[in-house]
Amino acid sequence: MTKITEHLAKLNHRVTTAVTNAGRSENCVNILAVSKQHPASVVESALIAGLTDFGENHVHEGIEKIRLAGNKATWHFIGQIQSNKTRQIAGYFDWAQTVCTARIAERLNNQRPQHAANLQVCIQLRPSSAPERSGANSDDIDDLARTIARLPRLDLRGLMIIPLPGLDDAALRQEFRRARQIMESMKQYSDAVDTLSMGMSADLEAAIMEGSTMIRIGTDLFGQRNR
Ligand SMILES: *Cc1c(COP(=O)(O)O)cnc(C)c1O
Repeated sequence: MTKITEHLAKLNHRVTTAVTNAGRSENCVNILAVSKQHPASVVESALIAGLTDFGENHVHEGIEKIRLAGNKATWHFIGQIQSNKTRQIAGYFDWAQTVCTARIAERLNNQRPQHAANLQVCIQLRPSSAPERSGANSDDIDDLARTIARLPRLDLRGLMIIPLPGLDDAALRQEFRRARQIMESMKQYSDAVDTLSMGMSADLEAAIMEGSTMIRIGTDLFGQRNR
């Protein structure tokens, strides 16, 4: 058994317990394996362990891994999207989870290669009372969701959030609950909306309690990042 297989077994146990405690149905939470800052070889082991979806937050590093593992995996961009990187994101990734503006959405739409399937998109929600953090403000989500839903090469899939660090459990739950409500309201703009990307190694239980459908796990699968 590889380390990743062992880690995944523990993680699956945590997820199952959380899902049961939340009274939710089995298999309602997908795992996004965050391979950022780990060597490309971890992807191969993770695929063998049964993981299918990988998250990267740097374009260049992500593309290196995508070139190696190719279409055996599904690739999610989870870093900040700079406008000069949209062409590469649209060219290589399957998902972009951190779309915050209509301008970025339009660039991704226009730059999605003809032969590729639609790019799957989540809007990143800015955490409450954190004007300096990236993400769309809750007041702007409606307009942005409507815009993305109309773009032909993008599929609007849902919402992602990275809460501020250091929140106590109650504040964290409240932040996740707010994200859930906004994600539910986005369903009016597209039938494809089904994803609430929230929960990391340290807070996946709270996220699952509040309705997460995709947890993004780095440390608890691959260990500490070295870079
Ligand atoms: C690094 C990262 C993660 C993984 O965090 P861990 O605490 O290592 O599980 C999840 N989401 C995003 C957006 C990240 O950048």
